[in-house]
Amino acid sequence: MSLWEWKEVQEVLLMTEEKSKWDKNVNLINEWRDKNKDKIFDIERNDWRETGKMDLDRLCDQYPDIFAHRDLPASKSCMGRGICVGIGWEELLVDLCNDISLLCKHLSVMVIADQVKTKKSTGFLRFYCTVLSQDGSPKEQELRIISSVVAAAQYKSRSVCEICGKSGETGFPSLKRPTVLCNDHFAASCILESGKNTFDCMRILRGHGVIGLY
Ligand SMILES: [Zn+2]
Repeated sequence: MSLWEWKEVQEVLLMTEEKSKWDKNVNLINEWRDKNKDKIFDIERNDWRETGKMDLDRLCDQYPDIFAHRDLPASKSCMGRGICVGIGWEELLVDLCNDISLLCKHLSVMVIADQVKTKKSTGFLRFYCTVLSQDGSPKEQELRIISSVVAAAQYKSRSVCEICGKSGETGFPSLKRPTVLCNDHFAASCILESGKNTFDCMRILRGHGVIGLY
């Protein structure tokens, strides 16, 4: 089935709400899915987060002070595993590291990242770090300022597709693990779902006005 034919199938699916008709079309969906496996992102397999790792690790070279623990073994620091998020959040992290660097100079503190990951339970960015000052422990105000820029980046990750960086959202019930996705990547993940879930997936797709495929 070509992509064009697939679109026709999808339109038929979008026109009906009868479960029996949807079930009949599940075979068509599965057939298309099998033939186009390479085009479809498997969100659940999680290995796409690894794909962008080399690119994201460039950030460690750009901000060696923030990522001072990147060469420690994973048993000593979680940073030993690298930056464990999708490449779609690269810009978000660059902005955050820029802000942190400027604040470090201004406040005379050091910020060292302890772990950068996607929080499993929410699908949002988590950036754990330690704030150090030249004269012992940092003051409350310095901690509050650094925490606020980290919190802002984490909050922003709720609306940025972790795969491509376009505007996205989370909370899709068909995904086993919450992930912030744009409509296209959400559609691609839905097509991988089979059997009984397809009905729900397509209903959600229609709700999001998704017609095309990634
Ligand atoms: Zn996307």
